[in-house]
Amino acid sequence: MGKETFSFQAEVSKLLDIVAHSLYSHKEIFLRELISNASDACDKLRYEALTKPHLTSDDSEFKITLDADKKAKTLCVTDNGIGMNRDDLMETLGTIARSGTQAFMDALSAAKKTEKKVKGDKNSDARVDLIGQFGVGFYSAFMVADKIEVTTRRAGESRAWLWVSDGRGEFSIEETSRESHGTDVTVHIKKEDKEYLDRVRIQTIVKTYSDHVGLPVILKGDGKKQEDETLNTAAAVWTRQKRDITAENYKDFYQHVSHMYDEPWLIVHNRVEGVQAYTNLLFIPSSRPFDLFQPERKSQLKLYVKRVFITDNCDELLPSYFRFVRGIVDSEDLPLNISRELLQHNPQLAKIKKALTKRLFSELKKKAEKTPEEYATFWKNFGAVMKEGLYEDFENRKALLDISRFRSTKSDGLISLNDYIAGMRDGQEAIYYITGEDAAQTTLSPQLEGFKAKAVEVLLLTDPVDEFWVSSVGSFEEKVFKSATRGGADLKDVKSENDKLDQLEGDRKKKVASVEPLIAAFKIALGEKVKDIRTSERLTDSAVCLVADDGDMDIHLERLLKQHKQLNEETPRVLELNADHSLITKLAARVTSGDGKDPIIDDAAHLLLDQARIIEGENLSDPSAFSRRLSSVMEKGFSN
Ligand code: ADP
Ligand code: MG
Repeated sequence: MGKETFSFQAEVSKLLDIVAHSLYSHKEIFLRELISNASDACDKLRYEALTKPHLTSDDSEFKITLDADKKAKTLCVTDNGIGMNRDDLMETLGTIARSGTQAFMDALSAAKKTEKKVKGDKNSDARVDLIGQFGVGFYSAFMVADKIEVTTRRAGESRAWLWVSDGRGEFSIEETSRESHGTDVTVHIKKEDKEYLDRVRIQTIVKTYSDHVGLPVILKGDGKKQEDETLNTAAAVWTRQKRDITAENYKDFYQHVSHMYDEPWLIVHNRVEGVQAYTNLLFIPSSRPFDLFQPERKSQLKLYVKRVFITDNCDELLPSYFRFVRGIVDSEDLPLNISRELLQHNPQLAKIKKALTKRLFSELKKKAEKTPEEYATFWKNFGAVMKEGLYEDFENRKALLDISRFRSTKSDGLISLNDYIAGMRDGQEAIYYITGEDAAQTTLSPQLEGFKAKAVEVLLLTDPVDEFWVSSVGSFEEKVFKSATRGGADLKDVKSENDKLDQLEGDRKKKVASVEPLIAAFKIALGEKVKDIRTSERLTDSAVCLVADDGDMDIHLERLLKQHKQLNEETPRVLELNADHSLITKLAARVTSGDGKDPIIDDAAHLLLDQARIIEGENLSDPSAFSRRLSSVMEKGFSN
């Protein structure tokens, strides 16, 4: 087959343009990326060869070779891994195959938008930082190359292919020959980047970024004075003694397995002996991975069996609410030829999963107790994901509730449920919460007025997941969770902080009685629009609020379901009136003294209901009726 030329996918061209023109200060990471691809290619072949041993019969000593040629100005990275056929090449080196690279592009366009707003300068540093944060894989080599050639042959196939590009919009593919399976990536180094041809520089880069790679990375000698030398430790990090592993080693390995470029927030490295022998090296990132809330909720742990890579993203190793955990598990007992399908429902894996989950809980608990501030950062990143476990994982519910943290009306920072219980008021029986989209806004809800007056703390639950666990969990330490926006919030039994309030309580009883006729009139005016009308125990400043009746769906949950088109009809709510509010008392007086035909009462009933809806953040069902009534009431007010 002759030489054919293709255009890069538009996105790739954009990416290459950025890569080639960025002033990124850690250009040397291109070598990390190429070595990482070479090592992945060897891992893939080792796995395939488990069932097809003939694939590696001619060449089974996996290694990566670097060959720097100062005269030709080329640096060549060779592996004897799986290789690529023509289709593979088309699919991978010309498109954006990897989701990490896609995420880079997304983050980039987001960054650009804000840049324009902030500075109007499109050459700011944001894009440059992003390269470091995401690593752009193979394409990063164009930071230092004016041309790249890839010669490759897929294991088990006889034809070899040459891919060439100068990174400016096009690449070509033609048939070539290669003695055996594997890949050579030949980077033609730009003049200004000739440092990457220097042996000492290469040694340092490999030691810095790729020491953890589990197969030898060999720098070729010149055939005369210089010998070939192995640059890395060439033993998978997790197999080494903990005392021989530096923080840098862990970090490099973390960045390699996670494709994240932050620092690990927590490292959990154990060797477990016994019935199940395995090693785990797990990391919790210090920032949120971009795919945290993707609907697949895929795990990202890699499974190895006796150092042989079996699969990426093994879902059977941790519950999905731990999907932000990165790293590896290396089992000694699973059969080497286990197929990826057989991993599902495997009892040995189930045992490992149980043990790993327990281990993570105990590590997190330690962190929460010893360094609460650091733990708060963790919780802000991943709390919303962890809370999925509260309704999914009954077995670990208690452990999870123990390490859960919450915002509340009384605290600036995060509190635990035990903190909450310790601060409960005399006579308070329940753990009160309110759900909403935004903590600052939720704190202003009129439903909370009575709680504030009685100094009762209320948890502010603002993650969408909160609606789901709070109803299924029910209670903690025998205290039930109760929504502050529901009927029967039992505030009467809670002792006030001072006697004055209790005395007000007495006055209130009298007022409540005087409001009864107004309630009757409102019920006639509003009919089916409300479920009930009552005087309120929870209002101090506002005239009215809406609450869900005991047993009815929470108002915020209903809104959430409607947004997601899971629900059409509306549950009628309970309208609560503040018998202390002067507007209400005046209206009540009007009803008592009037002849029952006062048109103001009808308008007032509708306007107050609409007002309560607005405060709740709901849409008005009939905005034009609302404005008609408002105008009419104002007009009457002005003419007095
Ligand atoms: P990633 O490694 O995250 O998938 P890259 O941009 O680094 O992204 O590589 C893109 C793809 O190109 C790889 O997934 C792989 O399929 C292919 N590839 C790159 N280098 C090699 C190699 N040395 N051997 C085999 N395949 C390779
Ligand atoms: Mg890669």
